[in-house]
Amino acid sequence: MTEKRQFRAIKGTRDILPPDSSLWNWFERAAREVFESYNFREIRLPIFEETDLFARSIGADTDVVGKEMYTFEDRDESSISLRPEATASVVRAYIEHGMHTLPGNVKLYYIGPMFRRERPQKGRYRQFYQIGAEVLGQSDAPAIDAEVLEMLVVLFKRAGLALITLSVNSIGCKQCRPKYVEVLRQELLKVKDKLGADSQRRIETNPLRVLDSKLPEEQPIIETLPRISDHLCAACRQHFSELKDELNLRGIAYEENWRLVRGLDYYTRTTFEVTAEGLGSQNAVCGGGRYDGLVELLGGHPTKGIGFAIGSDRAILSIQEGGQAPKMPGLGVFVAWMSAATYPAAVRIARKLRECGIAVELPPEAMKFKKSLGLADKLGARYALIIGEDEVTSGTYTLKRLADAEQKKLNENDLLEYLESERRGSGA
Ligand code: AMP
Repeated sequence: MTEKRQFRAIKGTRDILPPDSSLWNWFERAAREVFESYNFREIRLPIFEETDLFARSIGADTDVVGKEMYTFEDRDESSISLRPEATASVVRAYIEHGMHTLPGNVKLYYIGPMFRRERPQKGRYRQFYQIGAEVLGQSDAPAIDAEVLEMLVVLFKRAGLALITLSVNSIGCKQCRPKYVEVLRQELLKVKDKLGADSQRRIETNPLRVLDSKLPEEQPIIETLPRISDHLCAACRQHFSELKDELNLRGIAYEENWRLVRGLDYYTRTTFEVTAEGLGSQNAVCGGGRYDGLVELLGGHPTKGIGFAIGSDRAILSIQEGGQAPKMPGLGVFVAWMSAATYPAAVRIARKLRECGIAVELPPEAMKFKKSLGLADKLGARYALIIGEDEVTSGTYTLKRLADAEQKKLNENDLLEYLESERRGSGA
């Protein structure tokens, strides 16, 4: 006999259950509406890609690729990875489908799960969800960066994420960044002994990442390090300054943070991050930046690009913790039918109400009156529609509002009309 066993979700993954799933849908719907109002269109991407796509774009030395990817050998021995982020896939698709021939900038958004083998904690999962947007094309006008940031701020405001901070920085381009990185490396070597093991290692692999360090003992040292703003080339300096003018023009509040370098290799010039209050150490709800060389790096024509990814898990946690979650429409009508004679009317009316967009629960078996109303109450129904034999004979039904027990007797047409106007009024 096979042993009886129970299964649990794999560490770092979780189920999103009702009613939380309604809040997720609501947030995703808000993102779609806001993004589409900025003329972005959805792209649906595969969940797995060739491992090399991520290694080349994100960078083989980054934590994401080096330590966190779910990589496996497919049956044909090719190396496949679950996507740890989606920008690489968007760029791959942009090249593969020749989207550079499309008119104007290509503006795409995506919604879906990402996978990174990180240490799970509150706000950090191994399967998590991102909502992201990318702009690809020939222009790198700072107005594009500013529009993307405006769109983010509009979405967060609409979602009731009030206490957010937008931080921006410029990390330079192919011309000026390598020189700065070298200056930084030299300075870091002078203080190497005072740094922790991770930072010591990063002096060689990726000195910029030292600026990300949260180790308290490293903070005073980092404060004395040379800053990229003093090493930007003239073109990058101008781009950053125009971006800030654009943000001011649009009334977008931001902070400059010279230590905002972001972990992935492909970023150039503008980098940004949105943090939200009340999330503890995992307080970044969105990160992004420019990646002007990425399309070329992946075999496409020279193209400019900018994008971001919102961490939905954290955004939703923040909406919930801030007490800003909207009240989700629940069950509208519980149809209380009591005998076989009333069942056909119950089925017919339930279908009609559902066609009007009202959420209806029709019990699959006859229930006694009291039990029926008890269940309607427990399910949080707004109304119980009582369909007894008298009602069927007379053609008028009793609609009971459960919150205050107010009852109305209505014929079928009036009933539908009344509930529909109620639904519209309550926004449900
Ligand atoms: P990144 O792709 O690392 O720039 O991340 C963008 C956003 O995704 C972050 O600001 C987080 O909100 C979210 N995020 C990244 N990694 C995780 C994770 N392991 N669990 C939950 N959210 C994450």
